[in-house]
Amino acid sequence: FRGQVTLDGPSGTGKSTVARGVAGRLGAAYLDTGAMYRAATVAVLDAGVDPEDADAVTRTVAGARIEVGTESGVELVLVDGVDVATRIRGAEVTRHVSAVSAVPAVRRQLVEQQRGLVAAADAVVVEGRDIGTVVLPDATLKIYLTAAPEVRAERRAGQLGITDAEEIAALAQDLRRRDEYDSSRADSPLRPADDAVVVDSTNLDQQGVIERIVELAGS
Ligand code: C5P
Repeated sequence: FRGQVTLDGPSGTGKSTVARGVAGRLGAAYLDTGAMYRAATVAVLDAGVDPEDADAVTRTVAGARIEVGTESGVELVLVDGVDVATRIRGAEVTRHVSAVSAVPAVRRQLVEQQRGLVAAADAVVVEGRDIGTVVLPDATLKIYLTAAPEVRAERRAGQLGITDAEEIAALAQDLRRRDEYDSSRADSPLRPADDAVVVDSTNLDQQGVIERIVELAGS
């Protein structure tokens, strides 16, 4: 395989696992754009900047060196040379990442960086929200992954080792909140590109989803 596979969709669809699996199977590089927005959020929080203050967020992220690896199977995320790969998955970053990623100048900066990283790879799987619509409108294959919200909340809970029903309900609530926030943004709608293949993973396991995408990439 040569070219770009874009994998967009809301959180909790198993997107990351699927994207990594597809990259492994295709022998392609892997770019997690969510990790870049999360890294930008670390920079904002560490600077003591209010994530809702768009001007301060813009300046802070412009001054931060955000580095992500694209080698499939190795998670490398650095902010100003410091490894933040674990921290970007934490609750504090997750709570504030939507606000940081809603800032247009932050998006412009990271989209440009994403395009540069993609240009350096012969084959790459790129995961995010706006990859097929905004970042790579001419991608080789575009996938939009969806799943029912309850299923998505349960999957998240499974990953986090949560079994309490109330906590799972809270997760579902947080997913809906982030979906709404992400999709209300005019410049980066959470919707499939016109030429995307929509894959509903509600009744498919992740291996099944990976197989389906690998098949599409080969045809
Ligand atoms: O995919 P992940 O959950 O790590 O993404 C974290 C957040 O980053 C999303 O909730 C969204 O606000 C933002 N994001 C984005 N555009 C992307 C990828 C992620 O706005 N391409």
